[in-house]
Order: sequence, then structure tokens, then C-alpha cells
Amino acid sequence: MDNKEEQKVVIIGGGFGGVSTALDLSKLNIANLKITLVSDKPHFEYHPALYRVVTGKSPLEVCIPLEEIFAGKKVEVVEDKISKIQLEDKVVIGQSGSKYKFNFLVLALGSETAYLAIPGLMEHSFGFKSISEAIRLKNHLHAVFAKCKTASKEEKVCLVHIIIVGAGTSGTELAGELALYTKTLAKNHDIDPTLVTIDLIEAAPQILPSLPSDIAKNIEKRLRFLGINIFVNRTLLKEEIREVYLKDMKMKTKTVIWTAGVAPNALLGRTRKFRTNQKGQVIVDEYLQAAGHTGVFVIGDGAAGKYSGMAQTAIADGKIAAANIGRLINGLPLIKNQPQKPIAAIPVGKSWAAVIIGKVRIYGTLGWVLRRLADLRFFASVLPLKKALLAFGSGKTLCESCPICLPESSMEQ
Ligand SMILES: Cc1cc2nc3c(=O)[nH]c(=O)nc-3n(C[C@H](O)[C@H](O)[C@H](O)COP(=O)(O)OP(=O)(O)OC[C@H]3O[C@@H](n4cnc5c(N)ncnc54)[C@H](O)[C@@H]3O)c2cc1C
Repeated sequence: MDNKEEQKVVIIGGGFGGVSTALDLSKLNIANLKITLVSDKPHFEYHPALYRVVTGKSPLEVCIPLEEIFAGKKVEVVEDKISKIQLEDKVVIGQSGSKYKFNFLVLALGSETAYLAIPGLMEHSFGFKSISEAIRLKNHLHAVFAKCKTASKEEKVCLVHIIIVGAGTSGTELAGELALYTKTLAKNHDIDPTLVTIDLIEAAPQILPSLPSDIAKNIEKRLRFLGINIFVNRTLLKEEIREVYLKDMKMKTKTVIWTAGVAPNALLGRTRKFRTNQKGQVIVDEYLQAAGHTGVFVIGDGAAGKYSGMAQTAIADGKIAAANIGRLINGLPLIKNQPQKPIAAIPVGKSWAAVIIGKVRIYGTLGWVLRRLADLRFFASVLPLKKALLAFGSGKTLCESCPICLPESSMEQ
């Protein structure tokens, strides 16, 4: 029997970073180590394919139960929302009232929508950061297209005018996918497709501001080919029920999708003793521990890292955090985090994607195939292959509740 005292690792967040940490830690098979993953949802959400849910694909493609990921693994999964972190007492407290004591803590809390104090935005816009927001947006689109049946031409133009604010990756992916989906909606709802307008608005001088301009230009060309209007150098000033106010212009719409503002999870900012940067991300040392807090790791979107804000970074961070917890337990020197530039793979409409690997740029169908393979590779990294294929394949199923768009019970695409 091993007489070592039990060590407790508490991981908060069942997203990319948290799942990666827990899986890697469980593989280390450390004796007397209790791994608890606390998340406010019973499932993992695969954000990179969220745009497919808005446009009618099954949410099962982006929703993996944590139970399935950790089946047979020495990881306890608890559903609870952590409301307080007390670093000095080595305990975190959940909304359920439960207290989780830890020797090692991993905070993989992700990020949330920031409305940047723009009047009306929070009340009237649609977010695009979770499965529930994606479904809410999809249902809204069906509702506005359905309303056109009894609307005047002027009202119709307003009803089918979609504005996406923020031309980063998620806004761009969504615009490409909506270009085609709205054509189907228009056809099903018997609306002249030329009335449908989709505007993509960006405050920076180019779309995809974090990418080199030649790539942004190629993707812009693709978006324009799909019929998307692009406005750069435009900031959103105000939103009202029927109108949005941009710098130098005003538009009538019922649908504003806000993808431009993101902030680290507010719990990090509320935690005393963490040092944060201007964006509110926690300053971490080269081993991903919160500065000045040995054994407390902050990873993924919440950490002030060079490439934070990407799933690939959160996964890599999780691996470093797991390895370093193992090393702390075994008294070994810690491994330094060496951030790798994430690969950009941006799907824009049916069977087309831009993939950028270092200096190599791939556009079109091959890019799309690579991107879908990357999606499948991720599923296979967290699930047994059979289940991974099942989850990936479920994206083929259409999932519409609008009786006009899906009169039959369901249909394979
Ligand atoms: C639409 C969209 C598309 C994207 N596409 C890409 C892409 O193509 N490629 C890419 O690399 N990145 C992409 N990203 C970014 C990527 O999703 C994030 O960088 C990644 O999810 C960050 O991982 P994380 O572990 O920090 O947070 P998350 O994966 O968001 O996980 C955070 C977890 O913490 C849980 N949680 C939050 N608060 C609490 C609490 N108080 N108590 C308990 N649990 C809590 C949440 O429910 C969630 O499970 C995309 C993001 C979005 C929104």
C-alpha cells in the first residue's frame, strides 16, 4: 500500500484547456492523486464548428458529454459553477455551496462576450460563443424569415438584413455559412433572395486583423463572391431595437450578431491576488502558474499568453499544466511553456477554407478537407475512435424545428 498523503488537483472548466489538462494528468497515473474537474456544463462545446449549428446542422456535432470523454478515466467530473476562489485557503467554492479543497489548481475558465459599454448592444444583439447562443440565433433567423409572409416590402428588407459585427475568425466563418443558408431560408419561405443582405462590419482597416493582409484579401474576395458586403474601419456606436448606428452610417435591421468583443472570464478578475494585464488576462510565469502562486495554473483564454484566444493554445497549455503538476509532485524541475503559433484554418462557405501553416497558404476545397480533418482529429483525441466518428458524422444531420423549413421529421444532407 502507498502511504503517500492524497494530493488533490482541482481543474475548473470543461473546455479545451480543462479537458486537455485532465486527460493528460490521468495518463500520468500518479498514485494518490485525486483529479476533479468542475464545470458549469455537463458537456464540452467544440466552438470551431459552432457556425454549423447556426445554419441547421445538429448540435450533437459540437457537444460532447464530459462523462463520455472521461469514461474509464480516473477523473471525477462535477457539475457546478465556481463563484469564488480563495487562494490563501486553497479552496474554491461553487454556487451549489460545495467547497473544493486543492493542492493544485488549474483555471481553464475561457472567455465571455464583452459589450464594450456600447448602448443597447447587450439587450438587442445576438452572441455567438456557445451552443445555446447559436440555437437562439438560428431560431431567430427562422422567425424573421417567417414574418416576411405578412410584411410589406420595406419591412421585408429590414427583416432579412443581417449584420455581423466583428470580422475575426468567428464572424468571417459565420458570414460565409450564412450566405448559403439564407438562400435556402429565402427559398423555403418564398422570399425573393435578392432582398437578403448580409453585412460584415470590422473596426480595423482589414477583415481578420490578426492575419497577414494577403490572406485577408483572398478571404475577402471569397466573401464578396458569396454576396457578403464588407465594411472596414467602422465602429459600432449604438444599437436600438430596429436600427444600428455605425461610424458615419445607420442601418435598419432585426439581426445584429456581435462577435467583436471578448474578455477573460470575470471570475479571474474578481479573484484577489491575481495580477492581470490590460485585457484582464492573468499574468502567468513561464510554467503557466499565476505569477507568485506556485501550483496555481491559469491556461487558455484567461492567461496572458502570446497566442491566447485559440483552442490550440488552450490544449497545449493544458498539456504543460498537467506535466508540471506531475513534476511538482515528484520534485522535478518544471517544463517551460514554449508557445507555438496556432495554425489558422478558416472555413468560408460550402467546401472552401483558407489554411495557413507557417508560410504555406492553402485555399479552396483542399483547405476545407484539411480543416474538417483537423476537426475529426480533435474528436479522436478526446474520444474513442468509434465515438469520435459518430460525433463528427452527426454534423451531417439537419436539425430544424421550423415547420416550413423541415416539413418532414428529419432529413439527411
Ligand atoms: C465561434 C467560435 C469559433 C472559434 N473557432 C476557433 C478555431 O477555429 N480555432 C481555434 O483555435 N480557436 C477557436 N475559437 C477559440 C476557442 O474556442 C477558445 O480559444 C477556447 O475555447 C479556449 O479554451 P479555454 O479552455 O480557455 O476555454 P473554453 O473552451 O471556453 O472552456 C471554458 C470552460 O469553463 C466553463 N466555465 C466557465 N465559467 C465557469 C465557472 N465559473 N465554473 C465552472 N465552469 C466554468 C465553461 O462552461 C467551459 O466549459 C473559437 C471560439 C468561438 C467562440
